[in-house]
Amino acid sequence: PTPVHIIGGGLAGSEAAWQVLRAGVPVVLHEMRPVRATDAHSTDGLAELVCSNSFRSDDATANAVGVLHAEMRRADSVIMAAADANQVPAGGALAVDRHGFSAAVEARLRSHPLLEIRREEVTGLPPADWGPTIIATGPLTSPALAEAVRMATGEDSLAFFDAIAPIVHHESIDFDIAWMQSRYDKPGPGGTGADYINCPMDRETYEAFIAALIAGEKTDFKEWEKSTPYFEACLPIEVMAERGPETLRFGPMKPVGLTDPRTGRSPHAVVQLRQDNAQGTLWNIVGFQTKLKYGEQSRIFRMIPGLGGAEFARLGGIHRNTFINSPRVLDGAMRLKVAPHLRFAGQVTGVEGYVESAAMGLLAGRFAAAEALGVAALPPPATTAMGALLAHITGAANPDTFQPMNVNFGLFAPLEGRVRKNERKANMARRALDDIGPWADAAPAAGTRPAA
Ligand code: FAD
Repeated sequence: PTPVHIIGGGLAGSEAAWQVLRAGVPVVLHEMRPVRATDAHSTDGLAELVCSNSFRSDDATANAVGVLHAEMRRADSVIMAAADANQVPAGGALAVDRHGFSAAVEARLRSHPLLEIRREEVTGLPPADWGPTIIATGPLTSPALAEAVRMATGEDSLAFFDAIAPIVHHESIDFDIAWMQSRYDKPGPGGTGADYINCPMDRETYEAFIAALIAGEKTDFKEWEKSTPYFEACLPIEVMAERGPETLRFGPMKPVGLTDPRTGRSPHAVVQLRQDNAQGTLWNIVGFQTKLKYGEQSRIFRMIPGLGGAEFARLGGIHRNTFINSPRVLDGAMRLKVAPHLRFAGQVTGVEGYVESAAMGLLAGRFAAAEALGVAALPPPATTAMGALLAHITGAANPDTFQPMNVNFGLFAPLEGRVRKNERKANMARRALDDIGPWADAAPAAGTRPAA
């Protein structure tokens, strides 16, 4: 078979390369380091961890990222094998010796005779005569390639930074306090006039909330992040709070056009949540992108009436981060609709985190290998962590508000029948591990029967 070209030898590109190689298909891996550096990498090793050395929870019985680990192990992931072989003690988390980890990934790939590594920057969109190609160039995709991707996908479909508002699990919102209503009851496109969840604040609560935002501990922007322009529309909420006590009440927290059914009046201020996925399990807090530290976010956002018991599917952030609007521009097999020889994988597809990025590399690798071999490849079921993440970025997420996403149970297909709340995670985890097996075993391989 013709080789699969993979651009970027990070977490996603390395995993994709392994999945293609193990199918018996040659790989040409283009990695620009050390010829050209990024602002965050400091070695020329493949799969370098740019920051923390943690792959987060390894609990596959009740934690979504732990389930993702287990699924990837089941699918013979090189990233998980190298992580397991280079573990350092970290309680229930999977943490690794970063140098040993990177060296192990690179050694495993280099041991395969069908791999060629080219140390070069790819500066334009790969032409169709390259055949199946995977772009896995990460959050710090080099400017020349980013510009080429922007030209191909359209200006609005490539972002250079994320502005993530916290996302709340629907089932953790208190509807004795919160209510559904659109401003002035206006039905938006496809809406009913009651599309938002509203959380009311009286004057006292509002003032305490503003004070907490201002006093809360924040993460600093990195030097090179400061040079990334971000627009007034994406200001962190605490920066808005610092501009004056009424700024938020005239911005994202304005109460106009909303009536609290418990009082029959418009509250002093309102926090709104907007539906974030097709299943309606996840809701984002509108306009609440923030650089507050994670612990502070949980504490301060639970001061919001109705969110006292909120469980967060992900917390907010603002980072330099190159990513495409996947739900708009990719098909279900991760191909760019306007240039289907190109697949995207990793953080650039709008997932967030080492493990999620590697998982999307695993899927793109399997899809590309199948294509090179002319055999069929199905996506993993939506009951699995990998299938749920893929379904989210390629369709279930709202393209108008798309921001990078961590794996979480809110993305999984709902459980059938009634299941008690405290058993849901365990049931979803068990179902995922049952369902990933047959999919993992159906990996494409040279010599299998071509697709009809
Ligand atoms: P990368 O691992 O970055 O790999 C992309 C590769 O593509 C790089 O090797 C790069 O050199 C290469 N490349 C780029 N452009 C080109 C080109 N034109 N031609 C050839 N090669 C190219 N996630 C976590 O889970 N935990 C963290 O602590 C964490 N910290 C982060 C800190 C920073 C500063 C950043 C930017 C991100 C962080 N992330 C973290 C998010 C993310 O999970 C990682 O960035 C992860 O490495 C993404 O994997 P990837 O394979 O998509 O990209």
